[in-house]
Amino acid sequence: MKKTVSLLVLSALFLTACQSDVQSYTAYTAAMDTSATVTVYGDGKAAAEECARLFEALDAELSVTASDSLVAMLNKNGSVSASEDLASLIEKANYICDITDGAFNVCVYPLVKLWGFTTGAYRVPDGEEIAAAVDTVAASSVTVKDGFAVVGGGEVDFGGIAKGYAAEKMAQMLKERGAGAAIISLGGNIRTVGKKPNGEKWRIGINSPTGDGVIGTLSLDEAAVVTSGSYLRYFEADGKTYHHIIDPASGYPADSGLVSVTVVAEDAALADGLSTAFFVMGKEKAASLAAKLGVNAVFITEDTISLTKGLRESFTPDSSVEGVYTIKYLS
Ligand code: AMP
Ligand code: MG
Repeated sequence: MKKTVSLLVLSALFLTACQSDVQSYTAYTAAMDTSATVTVYGDGKAAAEECARLFEALDAELSVTASDSLVAMLNKNGSVSASEDLASLIEKANYICDITDGAFNVCVYPLVKLWGFTTGAYRVPDGEEIAAAVDTVAASSVTVKDGFAVVGGGEVDFGGIAKGYAAEKMAQMLKERGAGAAIISLGGNIRTVGKKPNGEKWRIGINSPTGDGVIGTLSLDEAAVVTSGSYLRYFEADGKTYHHIIDPASGYPADSGLVSVTVVAEDAALADGLSTAFFVMGKEKAASLAAKLGVNAVFITEDTISLTKGLRESFTPDSSVEGVYTIKYLS
């Protein structure tokens, strides 16, 4: 079996450097299987470094593979004294599960593990194994009760929301510390804070799913911009490609015709959960939910880039997409 996996997602989004005379400080780290940068403008060294340490600490707490993390103990013992972060994440994850009809489901871990994602033991499971894991996932739940996180009947994996949660926590921390402008980049999760010192909008590129540069750029004020894509983590077996976003209903990698979804929202945790869910739901259902929730999204298929109408003024396509993609705005 041939494995082709982008283990270290450097950044699903390409950031256009902020050109201004205002000094800035960038902290670098790597956690949650990705490299991370936090750039704070002004006198931001301490705050940026604090964000980097926060990212590492959240990874240590939430990692599903590290044997001593809170999440590993939760999966092993069925319950664990919930930290504030774990309790908030469970609440947020359950909310996103509800509004997406289960397309986003942190109890999906038995399926993720079966396919070898997160463990690295990639394989195509047989139909019976998948059906059994689908039943397990459907019957499981995670709740917080009397200060304890409790998993009923399965195992949890916060990989679809943890980076967004971390980015949002960093953004709130930076605001409390009075940071006027910052940009947080955690793999495919971008969170901007405040206004760019030179008064321009933040320019955030959306990576091409085929790996050649960007398909375009979004010019935005403060926002979270999160991408989920089948090209970000996958393996190949018998000439077929299997990616890491699993449809909990079928047990197979989601096959909605999408290759990438970018969500633009105020809250990075919501944007992260929704980008994973939208990938599973497919363009039509996802666009209708996006409109209901007041968030924006960019849906990329093999030949089409569809954007919610709220992005009409913000999106500038790259010249390389001409003749490759049709660009559509959804009403
Ligand atoms: P993302 O890159 O944010 O789309 O998250 C993908 C990761 O979330 C996967 O690597 C899994 O760990 C996990 N995951 C996969 N499918 C789902 C799903 N349907 N709901 C929630 N988490 C998922
Ligand atoms: Mg996600």
